[in-house]
Amino acid sequence: MALPIADRVPTAPSPTSPLDQVRERIATAAARAGRDPADITLIAVSKRQPAEAVANLIAAGHRSFGENRVAEAAGKFVGLRERTPDLSLHLVGQLQSNKAEDAASLFDAIHSVDRSSLVRALATAGGPVPPCFLQVNIDEEPQKGGCAIEALGELLAEARESGLPVVGLMSVPPADIEPAPFFALTAELAARHGLTQLSMGMSGDFETAIALGATHVRVGTALFGERA
Ligand SMILES: *Cc1c(COP(=O)(O)O)cnc(C)c1O
Repeated sequence: MALPIADRVPTAPSPTSPLDQVRERIATAAARAGRDPADITLIAVSKRQPAEAVANLIAAGHRSFGENRVAEAAGKFVGLRERTPDLSLHLVGQLQSNKAEDAASLFDAIHSVDRSSLVRALATAGGPVPPCFLQVNIDEEPQKGGCAIEALGELLAEARESGLPVVGLMSVPPADIEPAPFFALTAELAARHGLTQLSMGMSGDFETAIALGATHVRVGTALFGERA
């Protein structure tokens, strides 16, 4: 017999972790865009976060991480990888050409290929180069990494001729401006050049990025809290 309403135990909202919340938001954004959430990789950007924070996400089943410095990533992930060999590590920050070889051997993807000298350094590093994204300076901000929009075709041709496995484009829209037009332009440039992967969207805007085709979202703060 059903209990009278007043006697039912209220179901407490189950506490969800930041990881669960971000996954849920990705699923919702994907559903709204008529996309399969399995086509969107959540990269947990763990720069300036301690190894323990990464270990917590690994324990919760997460496997893809992003870092912006080669040395920091090496220090943090070498031990973690021994215990969890199926980790996938993405370089999302600017890469100096003299660190190209180290980056190619440490990372499973490089999101910041943005100039000829780096293409050459990666191509001649000697080992296999992981999948690469060309970073586009989508708002033409002089301070920022990324190749100029008008230089993209040439850089891509050069990367392809050198045998780099270029899979897509990466961009970072300007802060404090509606990001949608910048994501849309990134998607349009990728389509024009026959590239299918789009690394775009961070804590503040990943849902918008998913609506506009992101295949890789790079989320730090929403998963880990503020950085040190
Ligand atoms: C730090 C960083 C992120 C993550 O930024 P949050 O706002 O903390 O999500 C994403 N992409 C790049 C290139 C970054 O440097």
